[in-house]
Amino acid sequence: MASDSDQRLRILVVVAHPHDFTHGAGTCGIHASRGDTVTVVTMTNGSLTHNERLHDELMKPESERDQEALNQSGEEYAEKKAAEFREVCSLFGVDDVRVQMWPQPFRLEQHPGAVEKLVEIILDVRPHVLITQRPYYSGPHGMASMARDDHNETAIAVTEAAGLAATPDYGRQFRPHTIAATFYLGVYFMRDEIDFFVDIGDWYEQRVQAETLFESQGHTETFARKRIDSTAGNWGWYARTGYAEGFVRARPDLLSSLFVPESALARAAEPHEQHLNRMSGIVESET
Ligand SMILES: [Zn+2]
Repeated sequence: MASDSDQRLRILVVVAHPHDFTHGAGTCGIHASRGDTVTVVTMTNGSLTHNERLHDELMKPESERDQEALNQSGEEYAEKKAAEFREVCSLFGVDDVRVQMWPQPFRLEQHPGAVEKLVEIILDVRPHVLITQRPYYSGPHGMASMARDDHNETAIAVTEAAGLAATPDYGRQFRPHTIAATFYLGVYFMRDEIDFFVDIGDWYEQRVQAETLFESQGHTETFARKRIDSTAGNWGWYARTGYAEGFVRARPDLLSSLFVPESALARAAEPHEQHLNRMSGIVESET
């Protein structure tokens, strides 16, 4: 991102629920393995999200319900999910995982303290890059929507916190910090809104494993592979590679000249047969 490629980046990821991290996990893996530091914050422990087992038990007639499943407390479920989450993050080389305990549904107006907590985290991590969710309340086809949810409330909270962390305060006199670049996870946008894709072909297996590890959400390996093939695989298809993660920039970049990625130059010169093989995941042997 900078012309000084030796600069180590500090990346802060802020999401609403543990599983949300996975949508940019391959990209985080790429950065962590290059020596950049990645801190992941989830605003809730996700105890109300994707409890498929409880859902399915409660769908049964009362006499057929499994008491063991019903007796599992919200805390137990959340603990299991937090443990899965840490394991998932470590697949991508991320050890700095901060699970916040704001209640769900997370609504900022009910918990304004969340902004202050995020300011504290930003001033502690002092990230160059912020990755978060879509901060707008808009629906499909660009229509206005009342669809407030944990994701956009989280993104609004961290946007507000980033502004405060950059603003000097006579009273508190902390050292202000300005985040250089903010990216939104592409999964919360329509495909034609994506600004760029990151090629995560080398991280495909970890993305599948991450899905599989969220056992508390009822995931199996078959489901996990199908999910990654049809999501990261679908974006990879549009990015003309195997697997990709999409991102939206919070604001346009200022460049010193036109920027053409290596991948575009290579693709333009690529023979058709090689292109099809590459898209099919066939690695050309070096001759
Ligand atoms: Zn979520």
